[in-house]
This record gives sequence, C-alpha cells and structure tokens, in this order.
Amino acid sequence: MAVCTQPSGLRPSIVFLILAALGLGACSSEEPAAPAATAPERSGVSTARLTPDEIRSRVAKVDGDAIRNPRPGDWLTHGRTYDEQRHSPLDQINTDNAAELGLAWYWDTGTTRGLQATPIVVDGVMFTTGSWSAVYAHDAVTGEHLWTYDPEVPREWGKYACCDVVNRGVAVWKGRVYVGTLDGRLVALDAGTGQPDWETLTIDPTRPYTITGAPRIVKGNVIIGNGGAEYGVRGYVSAYDAETGEKAWRFWVVPGNPADGFEGEYMERAAETWRGEWWEVGGGGTVWDSMAYDPELDLLYVGTGNGSPWNRHERSPGGGDNLYLSSIVALQPDTGELVWYYQTTPGDSWDYTATQHMILTELIVHDERRKVIVQAPKNGFFYVLDRTNGELLSAEAYVPVTWASHVDVETGRPVENPAADYMEEPVLTQPAPYGGHNWHPMTYSPDTGLVYIPALDIPFMFGQDNAFRYQPGEWNTAVEMLLAAPPGDVNEELANRALVKGHLAAWDPVNQREAWRVQHSGSWNGGLLSTAGGLLFQGRADGMFAAYRADDGELLWETPAYTGIIAAPVTWEQDGVQYVTVVAGWGGAFGLASGIPPQEGNVIREGRILTFKLGGEARLPVPPPLDMGLPEPPPLTASAETVAEGEQLFHAYCSVCHGAGAVSSGVLADLRYMDEQTHAAFEGIVRGGAYQDRGMPGFSHVLEREQSAAVHAYIIKRAHLAHELRELEIAQAASDD
Ligand code: CA
Repeated sequence: MAVCTQPSGLRPSIVFLILAALGLGACSSEEPAAPAATAPERSGVSTARLTPDEIRSRVAKVDGDAIRNPRPGDWLTHGRTYDEQRHSPLDQINTDNAAELGLAWYWDTGTTRGLQATPIVVDGVMFTTGSWSAVYAHDAVTGEHLWTYDPEVPREWGKYACCDVVNRGVAVWKGRVYVGTLDGRLVALDAGTGQPDWETLTIDPTRPYTITGAPRIVKGNVIIGNGGAEYGVRGYVSAYDAETGEKAWRFWVVPGNPADGFEGEYMERAAETWRGEWWEVGGGGTVWDSMAYDPELDLLYVGTGNGSPWNRHERSPGGGDNLYLSSIVALQPDTGELVWYYQTTPGDSWDYTATQHMILTELIVHDERRKVIVQAPKNGFFYVLDRTNGELLSAEAYVPVTWASHVDVETGRPVENPAADYMEEPVLTQPAPYGGHNWHPMTYSPDTGLVYIPALDIPFMFGQDNAFRYQPGEWNTAVEMLLAAPPGDVNEELANRALVKGHLAAWDPVNQREAWRVQHSGSWNGGLLSTAGGLLFQGRADGMFAAYRADDGELLWETPAYTGIIAAPVTWEQDGVQYVTVVAGWGGAFGLASGIPPQEGNVIREGRILTFKLGGEARLPVPPPLDMGLPEPPPLTASAETVAEGEQLFHAYCSVCHGAGAVSSGVLADLRYMDEQTHAAFEGIVRGGAYQDRGMPGFSHVLEREQSAAVHAYIIKRAHLAHELRELEIAQAASDD
C-alpha cells in the first residue's frame, strides 16, 4: 500500500502527474483487501448489545410512520426524510464548536472504486454500501463491523456501468435491509445477519441494465429503477412488495415497439412524441437515482434519464419531445399510474438527465405559499414546480448554459439555442454530459431558506458520430467521443484542464439567484448535508472533508481523508452524542472518463467509512512517500495514420473507462504508464480478456488484431506526450521557485 501515497515536498502540479502514473499503476485492484475493522476508540458501550436479535428489533421499528417522523438522531431513508431535504435537526455540533471536530472511528472498505452511498443509521446501527453493491453493517458508535453482504456481482458486468461500479445505498424497513445490485437484482437482507431473505431479478439480463441507485420504500413497496441508457436500454421503475419480493407495478418511461402493443394509455400518448425505430436501441429514460414521496398528496416523484442514444437525430429522426425522457414524473405509489409529468429537456440530445436529486418543501412564490418540488438537473436550470400538479413556477440557470437561452415560464419549455444543434458542426456546450449538477445530493436548509448545490463547471464538445451504428452492449450514444480527446499540444492540454472546475452554490430558490458560492479547486466534489447547528458539510475532490457556515459559506473546519470524497455525509445521534459520517472513495463517471488527473490531496485509492464527533481523537494513517520510478514508454514506431486510427478507436471503446486521452482521473490504472509486462500482454488483455475477472472484458468481438495494435500505438504516443508534459511541469515549477 505504501506506493499509493503522496510524496512530501513535491509541488502539487507534479504530484498529481506522478500519482496518476504510480498511484494508479501500483495500486491496482488485484491487491489484497485492506484489513477490515479499525475501531481505535471505544465508547464504553458493550458490543454485545448489537446481537442479530438486537439489530433486527431496532430495524423492526422502521416503517412509514417512523420515516415520516424520525427520531432527530436517526437517518432512516436516503434523503433522511421522504421529502429528501437532507437537513438534520441536530445542533450539538454547530458554528461555535465545529473546529473541535475529530475522527471518532474509521473502517477500510478494502475497495478501490467509487463510493457514493448515503449511510442509513437506525438507533445506532449503520448500514451502507460499497463498490460492486456490497452492503456493510456497523455499530455506528464504536465502528465495530457487524456483517458484510457480498452479492458477488460478475465482474464482467462492470463494463455496462457507464459511471463506475458504484452503489448509492440501502433502504431499511421492518427488520430488513434492501439493496439493488449492479447486475439488476433486488435483494432483501435480514438486518441482523446480512443473510438474504429473498432476491428478485428486476431486469432483462440480455440487456445492459445496471442498478446503482438506493431503493426507497413507500407504503410497503420497494421502489427501484436502473441505468444503462448509454449502452441501449428502455427505462422503467418498478415496485416490489417488501415482504415477499413480488412485483407490484412497473412504470415504463419510454414506449416500446408499438407493434407489440402499449402497456397503458400513457405509453400510447408517449409514442406520439417519437419517430423512427427508437425501440431498437431502447430509447433510454432510465430511472437511476432520484425519488421523493409526499405522504400528504400521496404522490411518488421519480426523475427520469437521458435518451438512448443521446443524439436525438439518431434516436428519433424527425424530432419529437420523446416523452418521458428527462422528466419529473409524479406517480400514484400503489399502482404506478402517471398523475402528472414535467419534461425538463424535450427532445434531449445532450445526456441531460432529470435523475438529479429532488427536494420537497413549501415556498412563498408570488406572495402565495406553494407546495413545491425543486431540482437542479444536468441541463443547468434550477426548477421550482408546484408539486400538486407539475406547474412550472420558475426556472433559472444555476451554472452557465449554452444549449438554451432560458425557460419560458408561460409554455414551461426551454427556448433552445439553434446553434447548439451539433448535427452539422461540433459545438462546445455547457453543461457537459456530467451536468451542471449530477447525482451528488443537494441539501435544503429551512433555517437559511437556501438550497445548496454541488455544482459542476465543465464544457464539452458535442458532435455527431457520423459512423454511428447500434452495437448491442457497447457504448451507443451516437456522439463522437473522439472530440473529447486532448489536443496533441501539451500547453493546450494543460489549458483545457484548467477550464474544468466545480463549486458549492448556495441557491435562493424563491428569487432564483445564487446567494454566494464556495469556489473549489477542482470538479466532482461531494454531496451535501445541512444541520440545525448552522453547518454545511461537504467532502471534496481534493481529498478534504469540510464544514462551512450555512449562512455565508465560511470554512470552519476541514480534515484530510487522503482520497477524493464524492458521497454525501449524514449526521446522527446516539447516547447524547452527535456524529457525522461520510463514505470516502473517489470514482464515478468523472473519475473514469474525464481525462483530468486527480488533485493533489486525492492520493489513495482505498475507500473508507469516516465518522466524526466533537473531540474525536482517532487518526488516519498518513500515507507514506511513494516510489518515484516511472516506466519509460516503448519507442513509438507506428505511423501517424495508425496512431490516428488508434485514437479514434480508443475514444469509441476505451475512453469512458480509461479516460479521454488515456489520462486516468484516479480510478483505474493510467494506461500511459503501463509497465513493460503490460505492454507485452496488451493484445491478450484487450482482445483476449486476460483481465476479465478484474472487470476488463475482452474486445475481440469489436476490435481486430490490427485495430487493437492501433489503440496500443495511440497509448504509446500519449505516454511520450505525458513525459513531455511532466518535463514542462517540472520546468514551470523550477521557474516559479
Ligand atoms: Ca446518462
């Protein structure tokens, strides 16, 4: 493990390059798992209290009433309460004492992929998830590991996860813990032991569906969707009886082949907004993350995803809104019947999902108190809707937006910028497919009246993929990913990287304007938590975990986690002590695909659960210095034509996992720094599937031997440029001194 860490005394800009080189190459996933439980501090509470019977009996109390009116110290559902505000009434930790926060305990997950889960805490028992859909139970106070459930997801299924083999958490209900697995199963576990009570397959396993979202439980039904729209699927959300696993209903987001008949009138209406043969690729509209429930109105709100393929000219030639893509749909929770919908991006062509976090609250809009649902979806506009009927009350851009000038409140529709259509010419567009905001949870503080958004500032060059043809199970966006490749010039490459940023936006939802922001040093920062103590908690991509004042954004405390944090924190209380927990582990779509090297403080790949309290005295091991040796790339012997062909193929088949330009962003090995052995084994890995059990399947079905050699030549070319880049960085660092 010693090789995965930050060297002391090196300049950041050099450090991140070297980490990209070594941290990634040296700390690959075949390393043995880190030792499990570490509970350096005991609270004096006997661990015997957490027998399986005791755990089961605590979780047995969780039902709809408990979730509606949780104990202040509990965190019983994904967004803490059904309204998904992620605001805690706890105030023992507050603006006066946040600087006294310290680590209470930590636990190594032994994984090296992204961690995105929101832990659930029930009366001092914590349930969370890790990579490959594993579920962990801990004594929340002591950190004592109680059990792990590993669903043994076949590693080759990881290829279908556009955005890493992540999981955003469990649901708990009446003595059981529920998880959706990457390969499409919904599993009910005995909360006491972690043993499965029942399991059901929620997908057609011949299609590349994946589950990464956290289930919600509403009126005794477990609600779960899935992802896969980048590869070619038809989106839906389903409800299963929490007791038996029997399917209660399914809501399809987009229509199938009309010749097969429609699942309901709502699908017939939707089909009128589509053209061509969209069902071949699938149409998309996957429900991969957000939901909220209003018990008073008895409405379940579900966010739907982008089109499949992204490019609307290929998906629905001749136009159409393509219902119900990129929408908020309000469903009757007992039947899945559609009550209303609001489409944020009609005829989406940019991967602008509306699967982002939705929050329910009441706001005074035009002097009238309204029950609202608010969302900051990927498309860059912050929406306030009347949640009784889906009426648009207001929408304003919360990040720079180039694809539309504004949203017309009268029609409820965005006014598209005609120049944003990339059919003829590539168009530099904001937001990127990463969105102005992605899955990272927001929070709403009723105390400040502000919604806090983990915002992304990332431009992206969209262009038509003129060679697009549907290849089942492959990347099927009909967007030319080659345009994301870095330029051949190292100075331009550095300049492009500098355009990619992120910030924490404090958004006033009534006046639809930014109250203030905290500018971060890089993009893809963590989800948010607000508390009655006047605090905002956020982990960052630079490896720090921080507390800010919720009223003005002042930084009050921060501590290194040594890995980028993307998940949202939770807070809870047990035996009169307030704690804050966050799951730390860098990854997700940006960590795989962006081609932006990891930041200075993001130095280890191993994931951890971190729990803090006032006066906590546990210490994380400080990563030791790393070995500075870098392998020399082999000589570049291929022709420029071959390298260009390899660049094109790399961005068609490899870059969504291995990074634009073969630059690792910190999750997988940096291919520019492959060692001699890996170079020698290249063909066997890429076409032969030698690393299939590590999640790298063979590509012989789409790549000929000469094509794989061209990809190899391109990577060698990039390795030579990486050395040039490093020399430039060292020279710049020296001239700064
Ligand atoms: Ca997507």
